[in-house]
Amino acid sequence: MTRTGHCHCGAVAYEWDDDTNNNGIVCYCTTCQRLGSSESYNLQTEQKLVRTTKGTPTSYEDHNTDSGKPVTRYFCGTCGSTLWSDPASAPGVRFLKVGGLDDAKNVKLVAEIYVDTAIPLLPRPKEASGHKKFEGMMTKEV
Ligand SMILES: [Zn+2]
Ligand SMILES: [Zn+2]
Repeated sequence: MTRTGHCHCGAVAYEWDDDTNNNGIVCYCTTCQRLGSSESYNLQTEQKLVRTTKGTPTSYEDHNTDSGKPVTRYFCGTCGSTLWSDPASAPGVRFLKVGGLDDAKNVKLVAEIYVDTAIPLLPRPKEASGHKKFEGMMTKEV
């Protein structure tokens, strides 16, 4: 089965063949914090399994890495969505950003990395009321 994903604005879309892989990895490193908000959620796959089907991702070589080897980071040049990263320290490996996957809900958290630099996240007590939307923003177009 072919799986699919896309950026927020739809300018970039991709697909890949990796049916049984749903092992999610959360990364709390300071790079992911700056690129996202507090962490990144990744699915490790192989570069050769992923095909861009729409648009062309923008990329840059990140040399500020622990390994000393660059990580090529791909994102949408229009909306800024992170798409995937390819670490030179692990040739052929690609970390897809789970948020862009059309079947993201199938991904299960199996590992956390860089936990020592994690930003303390707010706990979510069961009795707290969770809102499905940010109600205040829904009265007008956002
Ligand atoms: Zn986009
Ligand atoms: Zn990270």
